[in-house]
Amino acid sequence: MKPTEKEVRDAMRTLLYAIGEDPDREGLKDTPDRIIRMWQEIFRGYNPDKKPAITTFKNVNHEDEMVMDCGEYYSMCEHHVLPFFGQYAFAYLPDPDGRILGISKVARVVSYCAARLQLQERLAEDIIGMLNDALKGKVRGFAILLRGRHLCKTMRGVRSRGEMAVTLFTGEFKKNRQLRLEFLKMAEMIR
Ligand SMILES: [Zn+2]
Repeated sequence: MKPTEKEVRDAMRTLLYAIGEDPDREGLKDTPDRIIRMWQEIFRGYNPDKKPAITTFKNVNHEDEMVMDCGEYYSMCEHHVLPFFGQYAFAYLPDPDGRILGISKVARVVSYCAARLQLQERLAEDIIGMLNDALKGKVRGFAILLRGRHLCKTMRGVRSRGEMAVTLFTGEFKKNRQLRLEFLKMAEMIR
């Protein structure tokens, strides 16, 4: 059952108490409510009302060249509830007789899927899954590279730079090594 707002606020207060704080001191008085409001925003990826509409267009010119989009993302690691963030590079090969993506919508899909407790690998799957659904599977292939810096690695434990990269390829990208290399080269160039 979904907890009430009061139950969530009390749980936040308990957590503050557990780290050795006094949840009633002046500076922390409104912190539980602030966290609740912030979580609604940074975890909007669970809210279907916030799901972006993905525009697609009929591929009138029968385009079949690789289309690419790059940008940044912020997400939260599911193991430690700490941020990880970095750049994404996305590409797809349109079906010449299918539909093409409104490429500006890719960034919205990335940020919606990232607004959940995530793993870099699953984030890649969620993004490709949503874009594939928008094209009803009529696409020759998807490629995505996610570079991520994990604060759970930089702030604690090994205190390394905490960087990792994952890739996900489907369709022709999966079959064709040359295409993958072309994508990775472009992703490197626009880093
Ligand atoms: Zn983590």
